[in-house]
Amino acid sequence: MDDYAGVSYWLESSGDLAPRPPLDGSTACDVAILGAGYTGLWTAWYLLRRQPGLRVVVAEAEVAGFGASGRNGAWCAPDLNISIERLARLHGEDAARRLQHATYDAVDEVGRAAAEAGIDAGFHKGGELLVARGPHHVPAIEAAYREYERFGFGDRYELLDGAGVAARVRIAGAVAGLRTPDAAVIHPGRLVRGLATAVERMGARIVERTPVTGIRAAAGGAPAALLTPRGEIRAPVVVLAGEAYLVRLAQLHRQLVPMYSLIVLTEPLSDARWAEIGWAGREVVASARLSIDYLSRTEDGRILFGGRGAPYRLGSPIRDAYDRHAATHEMLRGFARAWFPALRDVRFTHAWGGPLGMPRDWHPTIAFDRRSGIATARGYVGHGVSTANLAGRTLADLVAGERTPLTELPLVGHRSPDWEVEPLRWLGIRYAQGALSRLDRRAEATGRPPTGRSLAERLASH
Ligand SMILES: Cc1cc2nc3c(=O)[nH]c(=O)nc-3n(C[C@H](O)[C@H](O)[C@H](O)COP(=O)(O)OP(=O)(O)OC[C@H]3O[C@@H](n4cnc5c(N)ncnc54)[C@H](O)[C@@H]3O)c2cc1C
Repeated sequence: MDDYAGVSYWLESSGDLAPRPPLDGSTACDVAILGAGYTGLWTAWYLLRRQPGLRVVVAEAEVAGFGASGRNGAWCAPDLNISIERLARLHGEDAARRLQHATYDAVDEVGRAAAEAGIDAGFHKGGELLVARGPHHVPAIEAAYREYERFGFGDRYELLDGAGVAARVRIAGAVAGLRTPDAAVIHPGRLVRGLATAVERMGARIVERTPVTGIRAAAGGAPAALLTPRGEIRAPVVVLAGEAYLVRLAQLHRQLVPMYSLIVLTEPLSDARWAEIGWAGREVVASARLSIDYLSRTEDGRILFGGRGAPYRLGSPIRDAYDRHAATHEMLRGFARAWFPALRDVRFTHAWGGPLGMPRDWHPTIAFDRRSGIATARGYVGHGVSTANLAGRTLADLVAGERTPLTELPLVGHRSPDWEVEPLRWLGIRYAQGALSRLDRRAEATGRPPTGRSLAERLASH
């Protein structure tokens, strides 16, 4: 790939993207990191902040921010992909509560640490708004509120009626909403590119256009290593921070599936159109659709509309061509115009997408095995902006060998089951994708919510 500015609007608007020099022969260091996205770079940042002088090398297959970190929907929100209810069932109520608390802290920490690192990440804490676009969405919103209440977070959330939503942002068909002030919108590209510069300033070496093709665990006194066509990076600790792209490594191929999420972006809107829409608070917004939508308002007055829908492909391949799926992008433009009639004559200037890392049990993992020397954090699905920061801090504690509240969180040491072998994986995922869209369409047509009992909903429930 040469055209990194063409990857997303975020990279296009993040300044110089010239690749750093690749690895130029084997080397040794204290910590070797695969991947220059938020996970790898936050890990480097917290390690170096704790121990200046630590020798950290980051190997990136393309350029820093090439992955999801440079492409996302700009939500920095206190959400995980897995519900508090399910975390409580798996790990107990206390652990679920501690983790939920940690997600609120992670939102603030992204803003705080970016400022400390001198990064203008466009961090704006405008809150998050989940919208019911019709009566069929109301039960899901009320259930989400009850869940927060039951776990003691009710005071952070506010149920809104249609007028309450319209006072914030005027969305066609919105009849109710759930709002929290505890979320931010960011400029994802400036955050990830800024982090790369910041860790370099702290002494890390980032080698770009350096794909890692294999991993070697520590054994018999020899350190672990990242293997690349240009040599090995040997270190007592290697951190695998490649999220969806980790499926390319044989050892991790079935730990995740690369699920494409796609985005369309409008031109900057005129003041008159913003007067029609409102949205002065720049909340990050989504509806309760099963097949997922997410919106944000950029600093320069554009609307970003993202969603899933691009088909999963047999064998979990990742290709640049899949970032653009014409039918899904057209669907998203249609959704955006349906939400905001003010967009009728507005141009959509950008369309892109990228792979999310989706584990079989929807459960993110943060892990370090000192014996093999291998650490990893992955499986955030669509909620990695704040979680990757949490993961970076946690990995830094684990690598330092310190027991802290972070290392006791229930994401630590988790391992998801492998996905099914093909073609079962493809059959199951394609079935669920199709069925969830059909359930959404039926609910929209009838005004009645999905029952929650269909096979697809049970497969996708998390
Ligand atoms: C379209 C889209 C929208 C999203 N929207 C949101 C959102 O609004 N809010 C939210 O919280 N989350 C969102 N996410 C998810 C979030 O962006 C990710 O979870 C997060 O950025 C993951 O960070 P990461 O550093 O772990 O992975 P990535 O950012 O994907 O970085 C991994 C890096 O590793 C490199 N790499 C991988 N394999 C190798 C290898 N073998 N050798 C060398 N380098 C390698 C890749 O090139 C890449 O640069 C979205 C994701 C996508 C794709």
